[in-house]
Formats: sequence, C-alpha cells, structure tokens
Amino acid sequence: MYLFKTVKNLQHYLFASKNRGESIGFVPTMGALHQGHISLLAFAQKHCSLTVCSIFVNPTQFNEKEDFDKYPRTTEADIALLEANGCHVLFLPDVQEIYPHPDEPAPVFDFGYLDKPMEGAHRPGHFNGVAQVVNRLLQIVQPHHLFMGQKDYQQYKIIEKMLHLTHSSVTLHMCPTLREPSGLAMSSRNTRLNPKEREQAAHIYHALLLVQQNMALLPPQQARMAALNYLEQHLPDARPEYLDIVNAHTLEPVQHWADAAQTVVCTAVRVGNVRLIDNLLLPGKTT
Ligand code: AMP
Repeated sequence: MYLFKTVKNLQHYLFASKNRGESIGFVPTMGALHQGHISLLAFAQKHCSLTVCSIFVNPTQFNEKEDFDKYPRTTEADIALLEANGCHVLFLPDVQEIYPHPDEPAPVFDFGYLDKPMEGAHRPGHFNGVAQVVNRLLQIVQPHHLFMGQKDYQQYKIIEKMLHLTHSSVTLHMCPTLREPSGLAMSSRNTRLNPKEREQAAHIYHALLLVQQNMALLPPQQARMAALNYLEQHLPDARPEYLDIVNAHTLEPVQHWADAAQTVVCTAVRVGNVRLIDNLLLPGKTT
C-alpha cells in the first residue's frame, strides 16, 4: 500500500494511474477503522482496479469541540488494517493540506430540505462541514466511484445532492450497514462505550426493527411512538435525540406509509457520553 500525506504526491501517483487506464474507487473515512469501513473497501475493490482510502478527522463537521477532541484516533492500527485488506493507496493528510487557505469562504450548497431535519437540526453546521470536506477530497482524488455507508443515511443523501449540484461525473454507491452480532451498528464511536453501554446500545437496532414489524399494524407516527417507548423501557439511561420515519428520497416526515415509495427510520441516541446514529430502510408501501 502506498501512503501519501501531501496532495502533490498523491495526485502525481493518481495521474499516472489514470493514464494507465485504472478505474479509481474512493472511500473517505475519519479513521478508527472497523469492519464497516473495510466492507466499503471491499465494494470498491469489486468495482474498481485501484482503491484509495482517506483518513482525515475533519474539524469543520464537528459542532462540539469535545466530540472532535475525543474522536478516536488509531492511525497505526488503521494503516495495518488497510494494508491487510489490500487497499492500494492511503491518503493521510494534515489539516493544512485539506484547508490550505482557511480564510477563504467555504463553498455553500443549497440542500433544500435535506439538511434541515434530524442530524441537520441537532448538529448545526455539520452537513456544511461534511460537504466541504467531501467536495475538497473529490477535487483532490478525482475518483470514478465513491463509496459511502448507509449507516450515515442523511449524509449519503447530502453527498448525492452535492454531486448533482456540482454536475459531478462521480458514481456514488451506497453500501449496507455492518453490525455487531448484537445488532449494534459498527461505529468508531463504539470504542467509547463501556461494556454495559455497548450491550444496551444494541436495543437501538431493535427499536428500528420494531418499526418495521409494526408497519402492517400501525400508522407511521404510532409506530414511531412504540419505538420510542421501547427505547425508554430498554435503554432507560439513554436519551434519544430523534427517531423519525421519513420519506427515503426527500427526508420529509410521512403521515401514512403510502405517502412515500420508500421510507426510512432514522435515529440518534445518546448512550452515556456517546452519540450513536442508526437507521433502517423499510420495505415498500403499506397502507
Ligand atoms: P466515518 O469514518 O464514520 O466518517 O465513516 C466513513 C464511511 O464509512 C462513511 O461512508 C460511513 O457511512 C461508513 N460507515 C461507517 N460505519 C459503517 C458501518 N457500520 N457499515 C458500513 N459503513 C459504515
């Protein structure tokens, strides 16, 4: 695996690779890598001849300084994991490489309603920061294919919209969420849970499954309340920030299952000091 820390050296290498006819697949990450990230790499390897991963803990997408400071950083282990899994190129820039002109205003995108609900409402400025860094990384890497996880469903929709707004030719792929055997979605933040919290956090996924089970029985808002009650009972110390059933395309709340061709239930829950997100795409229309 080649490791590049500067834009110049990375681009020099990638330019030559493209001239050789390689197809470039890109997996942006913030490190503290787990099997979820590796599954994205595996998708990229299936589609592309050359895979590029980046690790950059992007300061502009953290709305809480403490969250940024406490974000797990495990660079040596990450490098070993990527190498063991056949990643071709790791881009490991420092902040000056990504933001060489911090005084210049960041591009502003109009995401319409997509950045308003859920994460957008609870993490002001978060999606601007995400779009800024992904846009910058895409300008640097110029991949043919971009691989992102369903785990961050709203983020996926934001990037899909950004690619549309910038007339990008990059093909975006959504990769399924990898879970622990308990059902807990794999996340870099899970390392900050103590064993009891980790066990309890599995109930988040079970609350999402309960929504799916209730689709044939209850309208969306009642299914939502049942899931919130489930969380209150099984995770009494946790604080759900939201649990919303929305149109999977527009992210607008749905009143009836038939309001949308596809719905998704998304949640963010604070377990101890750790904020966890998860979601479940629900099967097609039910009245
Ligand atoms: P992060 O390092 O958390 O910014 O995530 C980098 C990429 O990995 C994003 O596209 C995430 O959606 C994806 N990802 C994170 N966790 C998982 C998971 N459990 N399964 C699949 N993809 C994931």
